[in-house]
Amino acid sequence: MNLPEIENLELRKVTDNILLVHQKKVPFYFSCCDGLIILPKKDRNKQAIALDLNIEPQLIDQISRFFGPFNNYVCTHGHMDHMAHVHHWERKGTRIHAPKPESAYLLNLHNFYKGFGFDEELSFSVIEKFAKSNKYLPCKNVIPFKLGASLKFENITIEIIPLTGHSKGHSGFFLPDQKVIHISCLGFDKSSPNSDGFGPWYGFNECSITQYLNDINRAQTIFLQRADFLTSSHAYIIKHPDTTPFSYMRKKIKENQAKVDQALSSLKIHNNTEMMVDKLLNLDLFFPKKKLKGFMADLYRYWESKIIKKHLERSHFFHTK
Ligand SMILES: [Zn+2]
Repeated sequence: MNLPEIENLELRKVTDNILLVHQKKVPFYFSCCDGLIILPKKDRNKQAIALDLNIEPQLIDQISRFFGPFNNYVCTHGHMDHMAHVHHWERKGTRIHAPKPESAYLLNLHNFYKGFGFDEELSFSVIEKFAKSNKYLPCKNVIPFKLGASLKFENITIEIIPLTGHSKGHSGFFLPDQKVIHISCLGFDKSSPNSDGFGPWYGFNECSITQYLNDINRAQTIFLQRADFLTSSHAYIIKHPDTTPFSYMRKKIKENQAKVDQALSSLKIHNNTEMMVDKLLNLDLFFPKKKLKGFMADLYRYWESKIIKKHLERSHFFHTK
């Protein structure tokens, strides 16, 4: 099959009937993510299925013209880059599935605000501006699923893999018959073998580095034992038995720890975690916050404070002083 040319979209074949789709230019930092299309196949699925393909509405229209109609859409978790445009899939008559509890974030921005704990430190207007910049609109109806369950659409089975170091509901997908694992936002974010990215993201209270390391192991085992291909929300396609994603993610976490440890060695250590976090935030260790303005500065400060806190908790340096 020849793939259509669609401006601003990159379509890549994972297998004969699974595509990885990537929106090239995006309206804002957290407005889009790559996702999969399971094309229709005789005796398997009459209608196409979209997996976590959060792209802008006009591109959803074009994709639907070529491959649609899509009867089901599965969202992996409630971060903005996985939610913003899902409303448009729904408008086109696609059933929307999303993991609990983040399924509620697709319905109402207040649920997103409270669910991730933004309400403890930031005003709702910060989140409203963030959502607007990313063109978020709510869905009307979302079918929640539990982590660890399987979804079945006609003769397609999708195993839901809990990868909860990233968020409470964060799910990967494993397609046993197609031998494809999609690790969504676990932290493999290299757009090509030679590029670099941020790596695993754990900028919320609910995230856990320990859980992250378990998730990476779990994903690696499934990939090596059962899959031929690995895809993610912000990266290129990996073929069995290439373990680049796993070593990359572990390395990034290690480097982040080293950054915090190193900074600690140059500062006067306080026993008070909050004071230490404030001091480290001023160093712009992870994000160039001094260059950011308005709501983006507030958000990045919030996220970085959580990342720093997690590394402080793991730092031998901090505890032994
Ligand atoms: Zn995410």
